[in-house]
Amino acid sequence: MRLPSVAAIALFLSTVPAVAAVQSPSEFLGFTVGADRTLADYRQIKAYLQALDAASERVVVQDLGKTTLGEDMVMAVVSSEENIKNLPRIKEVARRLADPRGLSDADAEKLVGEGRLVLLVTCNIHASEIGASQMAMEWAHALATAQDAETRRRLERVVVLLVPSLNPDGQIMETEWYRKQLGTRYEGSRMPWLYHHYVGHDNNRDWFMLTQKETRALTRAVYHEWFPQVWLDEHQMGANGPRIFVPPYAEPVDTDIHPLVWREVNLIGSQMALRLEQAQKSGVIYGFSYDAYWPGGTKNTAWWKNVSGLLTEVASARLATPIRIAPGELSGGRKGLVEYEPQTNFPNPWPGGLWRLRDIMDYERIASDALLETCADRREDFLRDALVRARTAIGTFRPTDAYRIPSRQRDTASALRLAALMQEHGVEVKRSADGDAWIPLAQPYGRFVQEMFERQDYPEVKLVSGRDIVRPYDVSAWSLPLMMGVETERAPLPAGLSDFKAEAPRLDVPGGAVALAPGSPENARLVNAALRSTGRVAIAREATASGAQQWPAGTVFLDATAARAAVAKGVPGQTWSAASEIPAAAEKLAAPRVGLYKPWAASMDEGWTRFLLEQYGFEPKTLDNKTIRAGSLSAAFDAIVLPDVPKEVIASGKPRREESEMRYFADLPPEYAGGLDKEGASALKQFVEAGGTLVAFSAACDYVLDELNLPVRNVLGRARAEEFSAPGSLLRVDVDASHPLTYGLPPSVALFQDKAIAFDTALPGAEMERWVLATYPAAQRDILLSGWVNGVDRLEKRAAAVATTYGKGKVVLLGFRPQHRAQTPATFPFVFNALYWSTAKR
Ligand SMILES: [Zn+2]
Repeated sequence: MRLPSVAAIALFLSTVPAVAAVQSPSEFLGFTVGADRTLADYRQIKAYLQALDAASERVVVQDLGKTTLGEDMVMAVVSSEENIKNLPRIKEVARRLADPRGLSDADAEKLVGEGRLVLLVTCNIHASEIGASQMAMEWAHALATAQDAETRRRLERVVVLLVPSLNPDGQIMETEWYRKQLGTRYEGSRMPWLYHHYVGHDNNRDWFMLTQKETRALTRAVYHEWFPQVWLDEHQMGANGPRIFVPPYAEPVDTDIHPLVWREVNLIGSQMALRLEQAQKSGVIYGFSYDAYWPGGTKNTAWWKNVSGLLTEVASARLATPIRIAPGELSGGRKGLVEYEPQTNFPNPWPGGLWRLRDIMDYERIASDALLETCADRREDFLRDALVRARTAIGTFRPTDAYRIPSRQRDTASALRLAALMQEHGVEVKRSADGDAWIPLAQPYGRFVQEMFERQDYPEVKLVSGRDIVRPYDVSAWSLPLMMGVETERAPLPAGLSDFKAEAPRLDVPGGAVALAPGSPENARLVNAALRSTGRVAIAREATASGAQQWPAGTVFLDATAARAAVAKGVPGQTWSAASEIPAAAEKLAAPRVGLYKPWAASMDEGWTRFLLEQYGFEPKTLDNKTIRAGSLSAAFDAIVLPDVPKEVIASGKPRREESEMRYFADLPPEYAGGLDKEGASALKQFVEAGGTLVAFSAACDYVLDELNLPVRNVLGRARAEEFSAPGSLLRVDVDASHPLTYGLPPSVALFQDKAIAFDTALPGAEMERWVLATYPAAQRDILLSGWVNGVDRLEKRAAAVATTYGKGKVVLLGFRPQHRAQTPATFPFVFNALYWSTAKR
């Protein structure tokens, strides 16, 4: 009941009773919502919800914060008139049930009696999965206006938190793109860029690292304010299979999670399936494709925080353009449905035919209503279950069980970041007098902490005896201490702790200069801020002494001007030590001019790389195919980064046929067609020969190896999945830390691997230098640190990171994901150091 839009003011001024003035979404917007070739964009959706807020006593719109591109992220709170007036108390009860420490059984039972079920429904995190953003308006309108006893009963028991889009920027991009292509041969086509400014589809992979604004905004609302007991995230899937997936989930299911989560999720999913079937909606499936094992998605992370998290996936049309599927085009081929035939989890297959936006919205609406119905029916059960789950989580551990994050360690800044991240998750974090962070495990989110801190051992679940195991849906490892290069240990919780406060270390500039010890990725924020000031920045290329002080190779010195400029920018970062002066032997460091290749294939790795480089102050410039093909790159760039993009996409703009999700790869408008082609390849070669540094990540290494004659070969280039596969695992490599690329790194690091890449190297001739910088251990048992790998012996003694000279320039091959989803600070230094190395004198 705030922020009245123009339409809302009109409603306020009218003297008609509020309820009669509530317009439907179609009346408000002046077109039929859900009609073919018609989409409401996010700003229209937001305006409609605000109008509902103004007109209805059952709706308030809450601002969640700004998106990456500056839109307002909103959430409609929908409940009975009574509940809406009582929200502070409802939140308080939810918070107490989520953290019942100190609550007596009698008081707990009173709260269960008093409480309202808090149900979070999030829509459209994947912007092209657009139906739910339209359905949300209709659902909110129906709930706000219904006068029947059943709807009233449901709203008396449940507070619905309805997020119409978890990706407003992308929703706007998609509707704009759709409207622009309407009526052309590209109508309903995919966009040639990411539907989240940085991370595209991976916005649903960010929920434990919390790097994006949208993730952080909702995380605050969920784990610091509302404490919902049930969360449904509404998605869409491909067009050729079942019409809707509802829980139960497919195997594997994480067995550390309280079984009441799965029981509730299964109950709600079954009610959805029942109501859909009664409404004669065919093609409903459960136990299909989507597992419940990995914690990176919206409601997934919530499982470890005792929330019953559900997923629905409805078959897609071409955005709002109807499609017609021939019966022979319907296929299973995924976990839980091998052949598209009736079976126990799929008793009534959809026969094929026309499929449109309206169908998607209808399926979603029925599922959403069934969810609300079950939550209302089971209000008391579900509130008590939430309490039981929290109590069980707390009781899993002894009161003294804790993780210690020592403040004195190789990378203090990343250690602080880890502690602050846990706090942002709603985890209670403590601090001891000596500055160490402590996380007691006997707390409601203790299991979440344990999941994020320990190593993963992927369960080898078989569906049929003797056959292959069930492969992970996403990655198989997320051990934060390994990924962040932070030392942690299980240790008994000491007494006398205070609350941990996430704040950057205070940096004083005591004298002539300061020195940054190498090895922390956080250094880059300070160094880059300093490089853009008028001060002097230098790097010790060898171990250096000045006076009594010893500095290891890779130490960066900022003179007082540069250091103050960096501090003035408010850059949080690594702690530094005072130096009387910049040692004479240190080499002046220049800000690298970085180009980042961006294919028109909407590469998430490109987006993550751009995000990371911007965050750390590298100010990368985007290079598309045309710009690279035009050549003359060495005048403008010191380093060019090729993110993890398949070599076929870099070369031609099209994926290899079998890798493409679509068996047919539809054309893009001509300005986005093609790849680097021959001219682009030779422009990159000239760039390196003239002195530039080419840095390739993961799959892009294969492209570089094809185009440049290097004494390096990918030994797994032709390996089939039965011979080698790493679905996203943390692997140990031993590091040669004597090179500018590896300054300050520990003797071994955990790298993130999800591709079949490992290098064989050979001794080049005198025309070239070659450095092997990271190598897999000789014994296979030492390689896998977390997750699951098939064929790990194929990695023994192979190289993971190689650098060479090439003409006057350099090539850096990082055969892994050094910046994977901005979740792997332990290996960010490979990237950042490569960029600083690009400006080095040789
Ligand atoms: Zn999705």
